[in-house]
This record gives sequence, C-alpha cells and structure tokens, in this order.
Amino acid sequence: MTNLAQYDPDIAHAIKNELERQRNGLEMIPSENFVSLAVLEAMGTVPTNKYAEGYPGKRYYGGNQFIDVMETLAIERAKKLFGAEYANVQPHAGSQANMAAYFAVMKPGEKLMGMALPMGGHLTHGHPLSFSGTFYQVVPYGVRRDGWLDMDEVRAIALREKPKVLVCGASAYPRLIDFKAFAQIAHETGAVAIADIAHVAGLVVGGAHPHPFPETDIVTTTTHKTLRGPRSALILAKAQYGAAIDKAIIPGLQGGPMEHIIAAKAVCFKEAMEPSFTDYARRIVANAKVLAETLMREGLTLVSGGTDNHLMLMDLTALNMAGKQAEALLDEVGITVNKNMIPYDPRKPLDPSGIRLGTPALTTRGFTEDDMKIVGRTIAEVLKNPTSDDTKSRAREVVRGLTEKYPLYPDLKYATY
Ligand SMILES: *Cc1c(COP(=O)(O)O)cnc(C)c1O
Repeated sequence: MTNLAQYDPDIAHAIKNELERQRNGLEMIPSENFVSLAVLEAMGTVPTNKYAEGYPGKRYYGGNQFIDVMETLAIERAKKLFGAEYANVQPHAGSQANMAAYFAVMKPGEKLMGMALPMGGHLTHGHPLSFSGTFYQVVPYGVRRDGWLDMDEVRAIALREKPKVLVCGASAYPRLIDFKAFAQIAHETGAVAIADIAHVAGLVVGGAHPHPFPETDIVTTTTHKTLRGPRSALILAKAQYGAAIDKAIIPGLQGGPMEHIIAAKAVCFKEAMEPSFTDYARRIVANAKVLAETLMREGLTLVSGGTDNHLMLMDLTALNMAGKQAEALLDEVGITVNKNMIPYDPRKPLDPSGIRLGTPALTTRGFTEDDMKIVGRTIAEVLKNPTSDDTKSRAREVVRGLTEKYPLYPDLKYATY
C-alpha cells in the first residue's frame, strides 16, 4: 500500500497501528473475526468504481457484464451454502438486511415480536431507539431467570399477540436456538418466521448449530461474524418471498450495491463450503466449551451456566465489578472483550453487569483447547486481582507468548513513511 502511505501518511499510520493491535492482542469479542487474505484482497478492488443498481441482467446502468458475473456467483454460492431457494447479497450490513426483510413482509404499524436487547436480542429486533421499534408495534420476549429461552412462553406470547413477524436470533445468547420451534410457533399463529443468524451463521453452515431451513421463511445474516467474510450481510428465503425482498432492497432501501464487497462475499461463501470450514466451526464451539469450563472452575459466573455456541456472558456481580471495569482491565493486558447487559441486569445499558466473550477470532488464529485453558485462567486471575500489577505483567506475558505462537497475517506488510 505504498500509494496510500505516500499520499496520506496519517491514515496509513492509523491502519498500520490497527493491524499491529490485531496482531498483538487476544480478540475475544464474539462478533469479530479475521478474514482470509483472499477476502481482504477482493475488498480492495475496482468494482468499487461501478454503479450497478438493480440485479444481474436487470441493471439501471450499462457496463455491468463482469459485475453480473461476481454477483451471480455470490448468489448461487449463497443458495448452495445455506440450502436456500433465494438469496439477496446486496444488503450493506446486518441491520439493513433486517430492515429489508421486515419491509418485504410487514407494513409500518404492524406487530413485530422479537427478543429484547437486554435479554440478548439485537437493536433491530424491536428496540425503541432503532427503526424497528419506531416503525413497528413491538412485542418483546426474553429469557428465563436462569438465562435460557422458554419456548412455552414464546408460544404463549405469540398466541396472545398474533404478531405479523416473529423474529428469532440473538447477539448475546450462549445456547442453541431452536429455529424449527420458532418457525412452528410463527406459522401456528399466522406470523412470518424470520431467523436472524448473524452471530451463528458460520456455525450453522459448519454443522455446529441447528439450521433454520427448511422451516424458516426468511433468514438474515451478517457475513463478518462467525461466517468470516467481509463486513456486510445477506438475506436468504423461501422462493415466494424473493420478489418482495428484491424490491425492499432496491428501490426500497438502498441504491448502488457495493460490488467489491459482494465479490468478497462470494469468496467467503466458497471458503465456507470447504471441508476445513466444518472443522473450523467445530473447533470454535469446542474452544468455547473449554473456555467456559475453565472460567467456571476458577469460580466465575456464566449466564445459563456455560455455552453451547461460540460465546459466553459473564455475570460480574459476585466480583463486585461492573462490565466497564472488567473490559478496561482486560484491555490493559491485551485481551479485548465487550461489556454487555446480562438478563434482568440491575445496572444500566451503558454501565452493565457483564462482559461478553467468544472464540471465533482466536480459533481462526489457530488457538487450541489447551490454549483456551491458559486464556481462561489468565482472564480469571486478572478479574480476581484487579489491583495487582504482578498479575497484569504475568497476563501480558501470556498474551505475548500466545500471539507470537499464532502470528496473524504474517506476510502482510503495510508501508508507512
Ligand atoms: C450483529 C448483528 C446484527 C447487525 O449487524 P450490523 O452489520 O452491525 O448492522 C443484526 N442482528 C444480530 C442478531 C446481530 O448480532
């Protein structure tokens, strides 16, 4: 990247520093990952110059013969990867994918039933500060006191409220989601079943989490979390919803698609179809299980008593610590996690009682179950000894050892001047 470094050293330096930060720390935010160099290369290419409003073969602009090749490959691969009848690869991000899915099947003012944000759901599942809580009448559901979803309660609420859409999926739920049961409840109550698999998409296609198809009507997902592709999103659906979703994306919500990112999504889908991806998905979950067991053995509290997927939620109440403080302490030693609300959190959204951590990014780097034991013990020691400088120095050494053992992008060089 010598052109960038020469022309804009300030930005080049910040990008290089970000690469070093990613290399030198333990990335444990469960919604983050490291893309392959093939995906990274595709993102920085010339399709960014092209306007391609419309769809392959039906564009509003000329000169799209090669853009159509990329987008068609992305669509066909997405359908194959997820076993879907229809795919739209144009949503810019997960939030836009959800907006388009709702827009396709629901009018403003109709009822949306989704998991509440403080219970592990996403902003776009009906939070009052999101478009979803502004345009629609929201019926929330949550988890039980023990942190587990209660499908009988979900069914009772759906039967009583008769929502137009029942959306399932979560951003901070450490257990498996029974997409089939959600779809059955939706259909029993006359709702459209939407599954937002943003977090677990990689596990789903890797066979490490139940699949939303064929029962679910519409499936939305990001492509940058466990799926390990570019920062973007995707909508999959039964064929009957295709025309409405296409219209919801354009002219409904977006203009020109980002075809360089769509090219990178196509690469990501190809990678996710490799047998090695199935192994990756299995290792994410195995690593999360060992991490959870280690943390609990060290006396720390996990919501729902552990994990079945890629993430866990730690309840810090017993340590007399807030999520903010835990996030900052771990950051000091090079471990990145995020503060997060826990179900029935007595504290405030910006100052919650928990942290959320996960294994997708570390698993991409090559971390094993034995490494996760070391990581778990290190996290526990730091959280239990928040004022000890010795503990912090030891933790920094552990982090350094592990990041050197599994170098990130060893051949990638960003020039700076
Ligand atoms: C991350 C996430 C999204 C939103 O993705 P963005 O790309 O950040 O807009 C949507 N739904 C769920 C469940 C998520 O976890």
